[in-house]
Amino acid sequence: MAQTQFAPRVFSGIQPSGGLTLGNYLGAMKRFVTMQDAGTHQTIYCMVDLHAITATLQDPQTLRRNTRELCAGFIAVGIDPEKSILFNQSQVPEHTQLAWIFNCIARMGWMGRMTQWKDKAGKNAEAASLGLFAYPALMAADILVYHATHVPVGEDQKQHLELTRDIAAKFNHDYGQEFFPITEPVIEGAATRVMNLQDGTKKMSKSDPSDKTRINLTDSADEIAKKIRKAKTDPDALPEALSGLETRPEARNLVNIYAALADIAPQAVLDQHAGALFGHFKIALADLAVEKLAPITTEMSRLMDDPAEIDRILGRGAERARDIAAPILAQTYDIIGMLRS
Ligand code: ATP
Ligand code: MG
Repeated sequence: MAQTQFAPRVFSGIQPSGGLTLGNYLGAMKRFVTMQDAGTHQTIYCMVDLHAITATLQDPQTLRRNTRELCAGFIAVGIDPEKSILFNQSQVPEHTQLAWIFNCIARMGWMGRMTQWKDKAGKNAEAASLGLFAYPALMAADILVYHATHVPVGEDQKQHLELTRDIAAKFNHDYGQEFFPITEPVIEGAATRVMNLQDGTKKMSKSDPSDKTRINLTDSADEIAKKIRKAKTDPDALPEALSGLETRPEARNLVNIYAALADIAPQAVLDQHAGALFGHFKIALADLAVEKLAPITTEMSRLMDDPAEIDRILGRGAERARDIAAPILAQTYDIIGMLRS
């Protein structure tokens, strides 16, 4: 299929399932801003609140607050609600309407292979929600209801994007037309998978029960410095070459975080810090993290002082999103034979 038939359009989402982390910022949001500012694509960014209730029950007040805080985070990192479309998922019902159709396209076997499902459902899959299992079909609908061609995400979402492509391809094949684009994942940068500060084999997550495992965009300078100081490392000095980090996941993680924050290559970090012990490197990293994150934290808290303005931005964004999604859903209904009068 010629991708050129689809206008270049970016979609990505973040769940209001907790506060924003350094992983969300470096793995996803930094690139959201680059893609917005490049001006080559229309950019659509979503607070996926319907995904946030799949794993655990969310206290309604907290969910509302997290959604507003996420919106404040998007704006504080540089998303302009005029240039990009910024809204929360539940205000655009076309997402869940298309998700139902995709529930009927995706196969149980495909969904059962999703590693996020296995990780999040854990040993007690019988007790997990049906929504957690169906999550990737809703994610495919989030993307494809806009005919989005590019999706910037962290490495952990790669498999869900492959599923999105499979769903689009099966729909196109089943109905004999190239209706949905085969979306390209955009997974780039030094920190596509920021790891948990206490366990370098697990990714940093906003929903992890332990706050020590992550840096939140709302943490104070003292909290950031303390979490980096206490991050798990090893007693060896930083090596000269990246190959020296291969079996040292915690060390590699801190080097990658430094590189992503400083906008330099991981090798350039080693060129500057080879031979340093973690006691020293952690101080440099904490200074850099505070320098880059403090302005974001300040701006988020300023925006949170006016929740009514945030709600207005989300409402306006949802109207603009619906203008794109509604006709695509209507065409989908026509293709599959839903009668409209
Ligand atoms: P949850 O624990 O509730 O799943 P999360 O921290 O994984 O929260 P999501 O809302 O699921 O955040 O993901 C939002 C975006 O952030 C996605 O593009 C995802 O790939 C990216 N992302 C999440 N965690 C990391 C990480 N540790 N490193 C890099 N990118 C990440
Ligand atoms: Mg996640």
